[in-house]
Amino acid sequence: MQCAGGSYIKTRALGDSAPRRGREGRSSPARRKATMAKEWGYASHNGPDHWHELFPNAKGENQSPIELHTKDIKHDPSLQPWSVSYDGGSAKTILNNGKTCRVVFDDTYDRSMLRGGPLPGPYRLRQFHLHWGSSDDHGSEHTVDGVKYAAELHLVHWNPKYNTFKEALKQRDGIAVIGIFLKIGREKGEFQIVLDALEKIKTKGKEAPFTKFDPSCLFPACRDYWTYQGSFTTPPCEECIVWLLLKEPMTVSSDQMAKLRSLLSSAENEPPVPLVGNWRPPQPIKNRVVRASFK
Ligand SMILES: [Zn+2]
Repeated sequence: MQCAGGSYIKTRALGDSAPRRGREGRSSPARRKATMAKEWGYASHNGPDHWHELFPNAKGENQSPIELHTKDIKHDPSLQPWSVSYDGGSAKTILNNGKTCRVVFDDTYDRSMLRGGPLPGPYRLRQFHLHWGSSDDHGSEHTVDGVKYAAELHLVHWNPKYNTFKEALKQRDGIAVIGIFLKIGREKGEFQIVLDALEKIKTKGKEAPFTKFDPSCLFPACRDYWTYQGSFTTPPCEECIVWLLLKEPMTVSSDQMAKLRSLLSSAENEPPVPLVGNWRPPQPIKNRVVRASFK
């Protein structure tokens, strides 16, 4: 069981997406694969421990997230500061895909860009989404010296030198993700704009317009970051990501986290199942080096 405190998860595993049982009272590998092909997830029958069965990348050499051990991470003075020039007008929609809530941006040309840091050129913002837990004491994917934050925000950008997002997924430097930890504290007013929109996308498959939003309003004041080569944390777990993990978390209130947990992973016509525990646990670091932009 990957998701601690997973009473919600168990509920989900018992839902109608659970695999049918064979004569031995266990699901056969074939059946489990068939179920997961229909839908991977975070429950015991289709969760992170099973992803590699259908998505072999998931056992690759460059998987994310990872544990960060700060005493072992060296400052790399060659790492540049990063910056964004986001156009709030490029925000388009917010959607609930049953696994997260995602805000999608127009990325048909260079509108909302990320530059600098460890990156070889400019990257275009495509979407942002979050991962969170069933309670405030866990939910982030990366951990810092054993600390799990309440949630983790991922802003996904792609390298337009590869012409399409799909093509960028095949390249080591195809994607750049800014990862921001969410820590419980003061309410974040700007985050409330996103949370207020969740009312319109309560259930799986819902989508609503979400415009005029510049996500840099969510960034913490400090731009210090850790960087390493990794992957998407959801299947098919492509190893194409240059990660920029911000050292300073953004603070949100416990009420704001509760609002995030009010989303459902079930569709409108199904029994309600809370959308929680959508985080992948840390993966082996293998031969990789994490670098810090700061001393
Ligand atoms: Zn993510």
